[in-house]
Amino acid sequence: MPTDLVIGVDVGGTKMLAGLVARDGGIGRMVEVRTPTADQAALLAALDALVEGLLAEGAEAIGVGVPMNLDRRTGVGLGAVNLPLRSLDLAGHLRDRFGVPVGVENDGNAIALAEWRVGAGRGATDLIALALGTGVGGGVVIDGRLYRGWAELGHVVVAADGPPCQGNCHGHGHLEAVASGEAAERAAVALWGEGADAHRLVEEARGGDEAGCAALGRIGHYLGVAIGSFANVFAPDLVVVGGGFGTAAWELLRGPADEAARAEALRPADDGLRIVEAALGDDAGLVGAGLVGFETLDGMR
Ligand SMILES: [Zn+2]
Repeated sequence: MPTDLVIGVDVGGTKMLAGLVARDGGIGRMVEVRTPTADQAALLAALDALVEGLLAEGAEAIGVGVPMNLDRRTGVGLGAVNLPLRSLDLAGHLRDRFGVPVGVENDGNAIALAEWRVGAGRGATDLIALALGTGVGGGVVIDGRLYRGWAELGHVVVAADGPPCQGNCHGHGHLEAVASGEAAERAAVALWGEGADAHRLVEEARGGDEAGCAALGRIGHYLGVAIGSFANVFAPDLVVVGGGFGTAAWELLRGPADEAARAEALRPADDGLRIVEAALGDDAGLVGAGLVGFETLDGMR
């Protein structure tokens, strides 16, 4: 009898989270480690160890969400902005190592899948998901199907000739450069000096600090500018915002984001635009990875 459990792995810029995931998105035992950033070999060794510890508990497949753009024909990861990963056939590596079906998806797409199937976007036909973490990831559901393209929603331009993007991205003024957790940290350091981080920025703004509120207001504004642009392309029923930073700062980001999005979105989309907080919070990546594992198990990929 099938156990109907898979392993989901959410490879993030700062931490890797693995856990047993059920078909309904329920999460069993979870393990977490800091993401090794020295090189690809160190990261793979840590990932193998995470999976090995869970596989003994009866999981039938592995699904991984990874912040890489993937070659859709081969499944090979081409490159990552915030991690030392290049030309990596992660599915092949894990299949060879553990002998079970493996599915790999871009992490933003995995988050969109999770929020759409079991989170805030249930029932939507067209949905945009944005995850504000170390970087900014995103995914798109169009006509009731997850769009399997790059969907690098964090690398759209929201400030032409703006600040350089982060990590290995050579662009400028991208959403990720101005609205990620790292961007929030840069804003905090600019206000309070080395050692200040995104967590402090959120705390100070919650406490009413004017400069902190203004900095988060700018981040929310850029988020809304991007959402307005996405609305003009996809006319989504719903835009879901999550990720570690996005969730922590949501109450401070939502007002400026909503205002900017409505200012940019074409009528009548500006009236109907719904921007909501992710329901799965920081677990969305893990749940989405698990759902990718089930799709692989079921032969849907
Ligand atoms: Zn970029």
